[in-house]
Amino acid sequence: MVRSRKLRYRWLILPVVLASLLIPSPDGVRADDLADDIRMRQEKMDEAAANLAAAKSDLDRVYWQREQIRLKLQNTEYEMNLARAKHAVLDAQRQDVQATWSKLDASVKETEARLASRKGQFHSRLRAIQERGRVSYLGVLLGSASYGDFLSRMEMLQTIVKHDVELMTVIRADKQQLEGERTAAAAEEARLKGLAAQAQEQADLAAAKQAEFNQQDKALQEGQRALELAIAEWEVVYERLGEEIYKLQLEQKRKAGRFAPIEPIRGYPPITDDFGFGPDPIVGGNRNHGGTDFGANRGTPILAIEDGVVIARRYDSVYGNLLIIDHGGGIASWYGHAESYMVSEGETVKQGQQVGKVGSTGYSTGPHLHLEIRVENVRKDPMSYLPPR
Ligand SMILES: [Zn+2]
Repeated sequence: MVRSRKLRYRWLILPVVLASLLIPSPDGVRADDLADDIRMRQEKMDEAAANLAAAKSDLDRVYWQREQIRLKLQNTEYEMNLARAKHAVLDAQRQDVQATWSKLDASVKETEARLASRKGQFHSRLRAIQERGRVSYLGVLLGSASYGDFLSRMEMLQTIVKHDVELMTVIRADKQQLEGERTAAAAEEARLKGLAAQAQEQADLAAAKQAEFNQQDKALQEGQRALELAIAEWEVVYERLGEEIYKLQLEQKRKAGRFAPIEPIRGYPPITDDFGFGPDPIVGGNRNHGGTDFGANRGTPILAIEDGVVIARRYDSVYGNLLIIDHGGGIASWYGHAESYMVSEGETVKQGQQVGKVGSTGYSTGPHLHLEIRVENVRKDPMSYLPPR
């Protein structure tokens, strides 16, 4: 049956976890606190992963159970249809037999009527013989009629009576046979009626089973919906914890004086060209793209991705207006195609500070920012350093 009780308690933990996520991690916390925050979130992530796995396994079980019920419903449907078809055939047979019975009953009644009328004729003839016999005998005695005449008349009457008796015997035999057939037909009808009732019972039983299975499936469907909702929520929790951990790790890096860049344009606009091999937007064919292009409107602020010092600001036929910021540790960020820059060589910049405006100078088809991250002057994929989009 439905194991809804087991399926129900897991997501009751959910609101508590979500509430704890809303507590922001304050700035300027100690490194130890950061490590604690990360550890706490990692534990919660593990918990979320375990809950996700459990809910998914519960969901699999629900799917399996629903599949079993679907098969049972199919079987029951088949049983029900079979029983109904059986009932229809038996009932048709019973109706045929009933029609036969009705005909036989009519025949029996007709035979009874024939017998009754024969009996009436027979009795009136007997009376006639008695009366005529008496009268003619008297007539013979009184000499008013010949004895021969009397005898021949008596003989004729007796022949007729004998014929009557024979006919009545035949009719009686007919009647008996018809009555026998009528009884057999009645018995057959009763038998068919019993079988039809049995088939009806089977159909009713199948219908009842079907209703029960549908009920079970409804409960499972509710469980499924709840599980799917819980899974979706746990996935959100899991993802948010991951993002929070990433941000805390960035903060950790920053505190340790390590490179931890942010997105170069607020709102993280879409990437229009990835780092690496790909089609050249101007001359066609493949080329090795040394940075990541972000599509943005002309004039959109360009931000310093990390604290550093501006080491170059110049025009280049390929990069257009180019700015290079050194972040220490052999890492530098390059910004290309800007309309203009508002910081100068030698200037110290803070992470997130506006350094320029998006433009379309140099080798460019439209306003965008070309961002490079170079480590010891080797171009790296910026997206492997920047926060996940
Ligand atoms: Zn580019």
